[in-house]
Amino acid sequence: MKDTGNTVSRPKPHRTKPLKSSQIECKFVGSFFSLDQIPDDDRPQIAFAGRSNVGKSSLLNSLVGLKNMAKVSAAPGKTRSVNFFSVNNRFYFVDLPGYGYAKASKKERESWGKLIEDYLTESDGLIGLVLLLDSRREPTAEDLMLTEWLEERKLPVIIALTKCDKLGRGQLAEKVRATEKQFDLEVIPFSIVGGAGKKEMLSAMTYLIEKYS
Ligand code: GDP
Repeated sequence: MKDTGNTVSRPKPHRTKPLKSSQIECKFVGSFFSLDQIPDDDRPQIAFAGRSNVGKSSLLNSLVGLKNMAKVSAAPGKTRSVNFFSVNNRFYFVDLPGYGYAKASKKERESWGKLIEDYLTESDGLIGLVLLLDSRREPTAEDLMLTEWLEERKLPVIIALTKCDKLGRGQLAEKVRATEKQFDLEVIPFSIVGGAGKKEMLSAMTYLIEKYS
């Protein structure tokens, strides 16, 4: 992706003192199926998106230090709604429906796609997106499209390369380099096995909240 000169897409997590999981109080607010249902107060929203089974529920659970905050789905593609979580009564984490689930019907895929598109292109409260990519897979056209919507709105995107414990050190370094080059975005390798990237993710969140709220 070409460099747009949009410097906000490159937060500097290492310069910001990160929130700790123990300082986070997270409450489930609700599941919403269309844009007109979602909370429209002035609290900023950070969205999390990725293909089904990418590890989104696991990442959210790990960030807020709660088991089963976002229920780790037994069957991929189970979550069809936009799920809002209030964090410290200050901002929202927004769990978007996983996309690209092979067994979903065309109609289901279209309705999830529309919900994600409506939310990412129109939500007033949105201040940034965490796009989750499986470190062992190639990004899809859908993944790229989401980053382009945010780029149009000049909103920052952070990439979490999930399940990075599945790659060797050298392979992972190469994957990080290739992903940074492809997207021109901050890339954070993440794993719930051993906790890689958790501090960096929380730091990036803190940066976004401080900068945009
Ligand atoms: P979601 O569909 O995107 O919410 O994905 P889940 O969080 O439900 O995870 C899908 C599967 O990947 C589950 O079997 C998880 O245990 C597994 N998983 C998630 N994160 C990791 C990780 O960091 N490392 C490994 N090895 N497995 C993971």
